[in-house]
Amino acid sequence: MTTTWTQAARTIPRPTQAVIDGVGVEALTDRSFDSIGPRDGEVVATLPACDERDVDRAVAAARAAFADGRWRDRAPAERKAVLHRFADLVDAHRDELALLETLDTGKPIGDTTAVDAPGAATTLRWYAEAADKVYGEVAPTGPGALATITREPMGVVAAIVPWNYPMIITAWKIGPALATGNSVIVKPAEQSPMATLRLAELASQAGLPPGVLNVLPGEGATGAALAAHGDVDKVTFTGSTATGRKVLEAAAASNLKSVSLELGGKSPQVVFADAPDLDAVAEAVAWGIFYNQGQTCHAGSRLVVEDAVADELVGRIAEVARGLTAGDPLDEATQLGALVSREQLERVVGYIDLAGQEGATVVLGGGRSEPVEGGCYLEPTILDHVRADARIATEEIFGPVLVVQRFDGTQDAALHLANGTDYGLAGAVWSADHARAERVAARLRAGSVYVNCFDLGDVTVPHGGFGASGFGGRDKSLHALDQYTELKTTWRSL
Ligand code: NAD
Repeated sequence: MTTTWTQAARTIPRPTQAVIDGVGVEALTDRSFDSIGPRDGEVVATLPACDERDVDRAVAAARAAFADGRWRDRAPAERKAVLHRFADLVDAHRDELALLETLDTGKPIGDTTAVDAPGAATTLRWYAEAADKVYGEVAPTGPGALATITREPMGVVAAIVPWNYPMIITAWKIGPALATGNSVIVKPAEQSPMATLRLAELASQAGLPPGVLNVLPGEGATGAALAAHGDVDKVTFTGSTATGRKVLEAAAASNLKSVSLELGGKSPQVVFADAPDLDAVAEAVAWGIFYNQGQTCHAGSRLVVEDAVADELVGRIAEVARGLTAGDPLDEATQLGALVSREQLERVVGYIDLAGQEGATVVLGGGRSEPVEGGCYLEPTILDHVRADARIATEEIFGPVLVVQRFDGTQDAALHLANGTDYGLAGAVWSADHARAERVAARLRAGSVYVNCFDLGDVTVPHGGFGASGFGGRDKSLHALDQYTELKTTWRSL
């Protein structure tokens, strides 16, 4: 099957133009950038690095679409029908979208066909259904007045997206934003623009009016121009904490636009010695950190384990990791593909090198591999005996690297380690003592907490974090609609 995908990769059309007003356009910028495929280090596509002029043009198109009501004034049921057609087209183009995503990011093709492309379609479909099911409220003000509370779209939304789940995160943002009648400009990450550009073409084909969904390829400067733009009403950002700060500063310094931030994580899985099934724990911990080569915001990147079972559990996790099939992302059997870029690979290797200086032990991996020449590959890695204050225990590595921290069995010691970073995206607790598991779950400082499981996911539940993991709303679920709507109160004196 690798041959089939590599052949398809040679001939697949690669979208390279910005999408503004519903069509691919030549960007005004004279700068371009290469999207380098981490599978083999070859250039996948050369794209325009959209500059302020392109941003102005996209914002003007989005504003015009919003102002004349071509989308927001459509009956919710009509918006629903268009978004359903969009989701159907995403399903119909699953293989093409998945291949573009794999070429850009190095994710295994088995994942992009089974998870990323279908996940984007499911998300769009779910918000299509939400479009005509959100009601306003009548406030209980008492006699003499009637006050209604309704939701209004915010206007022009800029969605700045990272490279780790380009299609899914884009769908998390455009699904609720479009369902509620906004106009959107997506800025995909420079490492992964292609599937998003194709999504915008499919949206036009589905009947989304021109200007309602625009996509600007570009590097950080394109995102910065959107964040600073005086006619953007909202920025929804997913990415690193450092960039999130800059977005917030740009919003404050410009028009005080609304900002939602979904940022990094350093999520702990706390395992007590009485955890019901150590094999199940080992599977969940291994997949929780090694899936997507560890480049998942809520990856379970820290194992906080009771001394009594630490050796046993770490050994079993290493066994699971050794059993994972690492290889060519275009091979359907591959479970571990490439890291997104050479820069990311070097960054992760830098943290592994730091482990020795910080007194940690490398239990597994630590080395590069090269299933495809020139690509960015790393062995699944486990670092044990990591101190609570080590940088590898507190900073986000964002690679296939599990950090192990041991504790003496007391709940307080476990929580001290688990809550010992600035992040608060996800956390898990494993224990057969249900009362204890509930107590620990209640005190884990995280947006998503798992009890005797990890990384269950569904579009019906909110996604987001505490502390340095972000604020300003949630992606997914009906709570995401809050990100893209303003509440309006209208009084009538009776
Ligand atoms: P990044 O912050 O470097 O880039 C994210 C996006 O911001 C890209 O599109 C980039 O071009 C753009 N950007 C860069 N500089 C900018 C600026 N000054 N102003 C505006 N936009 C700018 O992050 P990344 O390396 O692409 O992604 C990895 C990070 O994303 C990790 O930290 C990860 O944890 C986080 N992430 C978080 C979630 C979540 O939901 N919490 C989900 C996925 C990824």
